Amino acid sequence: MAAVALVVMGLIWEFTLIPWILLGAFAALYFLEDLRKDKITQPIFKIFKSLLPPMNSTEREALEAGDVWWDGELFKGNPDWKQMLSYPKPELSKEENDFVNHQVEELCKMVNDWKVVHEDKDLPPEAWEYMKKEGFLGMIIPKEYGGLGFSAFAHSTVVSKLATRSGSLSVSVMVPNSLGPAELLLHYGTEEQKNHYLPRLAKGEEIPCFALTGPEAGSDAGAIPDLGVVCKGEFEGKETLGIRLSWNKRYITLAPIATVLGLAFKLHDPEGLLGDEEDLGITCALIPTDHEGVEVGNRHYPMGQAFMNGPTHGKDVFIPIDWIIGGQEYAGKGWRMLVECLSAGRGISLPSSAAATGKLSYRLTGAYSVLRQQFKTSIGQFEGVEEALARVAGDTYQLESMRVMTAGAVDLSCKPSVVTAIAKYHMTELARNIVTDAMDIHGGRGVIMGDRNYLSSGYMSMPISITVEGANILTRNLMIFGQGAIRCHPFVFREMQAANNPDERAGLNEFDSLFFRHIGYGVSNFVRTLSLSFTAGRIAHKPTSGKTAYYYQQLTRMSSALAMVSDISMMLLGGELKRKERLSARLGDVLSYLYMSSTVLKFYEDNGRPLSDLPYVEWCLQKNLFLTQKAFMDFFDNLPVSWLGATLKRLVFPYGRAYKMPSDKLDHKIVQSMLTDCELRDRLTNNIFIGEENDPAGRIEHAFKKVLASAPLALKLRDAMKAGKLKAGRTKEDTIATALATGVFTQEEANMYAEAEAARLDAIQVDDYSKEYIATGKEGKPKAKSKAA
Ligand SMILES: Cc1cc2nc3c(=O)[nH]c(=O)nc-3n(C[C@H](O)[C@H](O)[C@H](O)COP(=O)(O)OP(=O)(O)OC[C@H]3O[C@@H](n4cnc5c(N)ncnc54)[C@H](O)[C@@H]3O)c2cc1C
Repeated sequence: MAAVALVVMGLIWEFTLIPWILLGAFAALYFLEDLRKDKITQPIFKIFKSLLPPMNSTEREALEAGDVWWDGELFKGNPDWKQMLSYPKPELSKEENDFVNHQVEELCKMVNDWKVVHEDKDLPPEAWEYMKKEGFLGMIIPKEYGGLGFSAFAHSTVVSKLATRSGSLSVSVMVPNSLGPAELLLHYGTEEQKNHYLPRLAKGEEIPCFALTGPEAGSDAGAIPDLGVVCKGEFEGKETLGIRLSWNKRYITLAPIATVLGLAFKLHDPEGLLGDEEDLGITCALIPTDHEGVEVGNRHYPMGQAFMNGPTHGKDVFIPIDWIIGGQEYAGKGWRMLVECLSAGRGISLPSSAAATGKLSYRLTGAYSVLRQQFKTSIGQFEGVEEALARVAGDTYQLESMRVMTAGAVDLSCKPSVVTAIAKYHMTELARNIVTDAMDIHGGRGVIMGDRNYLSSGYMSMPISITVEGANILTRNLMIFGQGAIRCHPFVFREMQAANNPDERAGLNEFDSLFFRHIGYGVSNFVRTLSLSFTAGRIAHKPTSGKTAYYYQQLTRMSSALAMVSDISMMLLGGELKRKERLSARLGDVLSYLYMSSTVLKFYEDNGRPLSDLPYVEWCLQKNLFLTQKAFMDFFDNLPVSWLGATLKRLVFPYGRAYKMPSDKLDHKIVQSMLTDCELRDRLTNNIFIGEENDPAGRIEHAFKKVLASAPLALKLRDAMKAGKLKAGRTKEDTIATALATGVFTQEEANMYAEAEAARLDAIQVDDYSKEYIATGKEGKPKAKSKAA
């Protein structure tokens, strides 16, 4: 290709020798394999090895776990959008849909979150029974073992709906279905373990928990000090090969009521009873909690939530060796098992709860903004409130798109470790912002806790979502790019494996073949980035027509820039990039916003490109592109080599900043569907629990519908007043009575208007309780309330 280009250039312009000499030297080196390896590859290989960040076996196993999916395309710089659009649309089967509409609805009705959290500090016994009987605790267990055998998407939808009723309820269901004994057994358990435990877990006869975290090992979970020593001991009256175990774990969800404890510990074999290796590494075992020496029962009290969570201890507890998950063969493989299972589960549990926070806040905050009037105006009409409503609206669209596509990825039988980390981090952060905005918009109605409050419990528990399954600061700063850049890069991971090859020559051969292709990849990214930057992305391929085409082009442009900037940064900073967390996190942000934007475009296409969604799609894409630009700019401004930062900035944004945040006009557009009873509002907030008129969400929803239905009457009243036919009374009741008396309203209209007004007044009320009840959660009944107290 290069030779043809030179010939053509020679025909058009003057012949110049230098490019031909360079090309000749390059070709000679390329074809003289031994010379190339010794003179070029070998020294580079040495430098590459010295630049690699030090990596222990737990870090390496974490890197190797999980799969690369659409993130790989986004990272490589030229995403194949057709591929993304061809992923099947995640959908519920009829059986799953029926379960969501019946069993999940029923379970939600059994649980009153205020009572659970404030009075009982536990779910009602009938809810626990129902969960066990209907298989809620075994959704991911295949039917052959008596489980529901649900897809990841169905699992996510169930958890999400439960979370709109009660966080304590959804966590209690989420944990047995996420990273825990069932998931580990399904992937690694022996046939005997599966046949024993899975049917019992599916029916709720066993309650599982999984204990990894301890006082000294939180984020750095690979550093657990809990120890198991292989030895012989007595079990059921016989001498048995086993493990003497000591552990001290905390924060363990379901531990206080668990019947089977999944435990991670480090395994030592000083007597060589299992083989030659003494330090076998992290190992996972299943231990019945009634086994001698196992301590469970005490509870922590996380943010006042009522789900079961507590510590577990054990000292010198002897367990038989075949209690290791997967048996003796899996001794020492626990870390990899955990990381692989986490890769999938992390994309379901917390993302589903985050989407639930968004959907509930969207639906009820929009409705409340219609119901609540100040200065004789619904507060949703004020521009300041509209600004916050727009964030709730747009981010909820983002959350639901991301929930659907990420759960769908897990159903494609892959364990996408990078996109699930992106989903965990960004979705919980978006949910935190949404619930804060929702609280602000509700004012005192959000702050006063009680039976009527549908926001405060979610607001209080938000730090839990931020902390668990990879605390967010760590996830952003260490995992998304740290893992993403290495796993998604088409060459770096394989080059690292070549560098770690104990056979030096084989490693060099492998590296040689990868390195030259890596150079080609780098050059093509550079050329593509330059052409896309200078044409403002307009020459990029458009996989669709219409307004979204522009966004695909801009995403390709940013993806190309990410590929180029990542390569240059890795080359420049090597292992230092891992320690420069704030720099690498920004590149991780770019990858995240590209992924988030993809999910929005896919959601839009999968829903048949509804016209009503277009402002939402544009809002999300504009916000994501703006944040991508910000992440890049902050990265360039903070690069230790300032001239390089300035040069990269010029290359990626030659005409200065290219993207802006959504305009006030677009904000206004997307808020309108929150304030009306429309198809988009229903579709975006489908599968949430609303309940009846006296349920916290139902009260708002019913008032909203009544007030919207009576809106023409409010106009009639206003027009009559303007025309001087009617004077406003001292109260609304007086006005309605006068409207009836003067013939402005018929009796039916007066009734309808009065009912809507009563519902509106009821919806804005807050709870008050006796002092005893506030103090104890038990004594003294809450005061009875009249409808419009
Ligand atoms: C309610 C609840 C339920 C839980 N359930 C379980 C369970 O069932 N089983 C279980 O095993 N564990 C469970 N956990 C533990 C949970 O996974 C840990 O809390 C989590 O891993 C963080 O550990 P830590 O709280 O000790 O925070 P720390 O590790 O002390 O971290 C403190 C802060 O430092 C940041 N940080 C740490 N290292 C880095 C780094 N290298 N770069 C940047 N930032 C960093 C973190 O992001 C965090 O912000 C639960 C925790 C809670 C609160």
